[in-house]
Amino acid sequence: MSVTRFAPSPTGLLHLGHGYSALFARRQAGADGTMRLRIEDIDRSRCRPAFISAIFEDLAWLGLDWPKPVRLQSEHFQEYGAQLDRLAARDLLYPCFCTRAQIAAEASAALTAPHGSAPLYPGSCRALALTERQDRIAAGEAHAWRLDVAAAAHQVGRLTWTDLTRGDLVAQPELLGDVVLSRRDFPASYHLAVTCDDALEGIEIVTRGEDLVEATHLHRLLQALLELPVPVWNHHPLIRDEFGERLAKRHNVASLRDLRDQGVTAAALRAQLGFPD
Ligand code: GLU
Repeated sequence: MSVTRFAPSPTGLLHLGHGYSALFARRQAGADGTMRLRIEDIDRSRCRPAFISAIFEDLAWLGLDWPKPVRLQSEHFQEYGAQLDRLAARDLLYPCFCTRAQIAAEASAALTAPHGSAPLYPGSCRALALTERQDRIAAGEAHAWRLDVAAAAHQVGRLTWTDLTRGDLVAQPELLGDVVLSRRDFPASYHLAVTCDDALEGIEIVTRGEDLVEATHLHRLLQALLELPVPVWNHHPLIRDEFGERLAKRHNVASLRDLRDQGVTAAALRAQLGFPD
């Protein structure tokens, strides 16, 4: 029996992949354990309140229950800011003034993009002189804050983490490059918020899709830097459509709500996803 969580972002209606993830978290918690629900809504440009109510409704329809109140990340920017300050105090952050277009152009020129994924940040702003950083910030230039992953990894040394399916792994926090921890449009990022919240909410087993394994390598580093408790993880396979494509909201995939409206019962859906009880 454990504490697990399901942490959707309210950027659209939940689909089968989310249903699978939530039921997986519920099963992983065990009969007497707790599955928490957390709303990851820091990206104010993409998240909508209507999708938050839809999440509650659709999960309840699936037969799930969770402790209240539910944590909404958008209400905790100050806490993320405080953790960011701790990293800054260790001299591990640098301001990045690059736009997405600049990063994409530089990364493709340097061929740093692993096949099929977003380009890794080539580190251009890491080399800026302190005076230039200060001048550009003072001039009001928009910037994000990035983690100097190599310096951070050097400070904490070798780290390991455990996945209940994959076993013990040596952390490779460099897989995602120098990630953004505070965005130019709001003062946090997924990586920072999720790491802080999993610790704060006492999550013992972090369950989520296997598309986030690379992120876990980085989160292990953030936990070490911020002296947070270390959970274990279980990354589950992704639900795919009939063409083998992973379900994503942007692909116009049927939502749980569509299926319900078409007369599919929650019991049938649970059985289809492999969670009949
Ligand atoms: N909020 C993330 C998403 O909806 C999930 C993050 C996680 O489980 O760590 O994709």
